[in-house]
Amino acid sequence: MPIYEYVCSECKSHFEALVSVSSPEIIRCPKCDSLKVKKTMSAASFRLGHGGSSIPAGAMAGCSSKSGFS
Ligand SMILES: [Zn+2]
Repeated sequence: MPIYEYVCSECKSHFEALVSVSSPEIIRCPKCDSLKVKKTMSAASFRLGHGGSSIPAGAMAGCSSKSGFS
């Protein structure tokens, strides 16, 4: 399940949220409960199990079905 990073337009706080493909993508800010959040394309989803921070940006821009990690 992908983890996306969001930024709140109200309080400018960053947070991460698990997004289920089976449920509507309604994300609230955990701080101010605002719905004015924007998804940011970061390397947040690559933090799982990866100790390094040298994931090339091209890895995300490419075909998502071509996953190099099981
Ligand atoms: Zn907020």
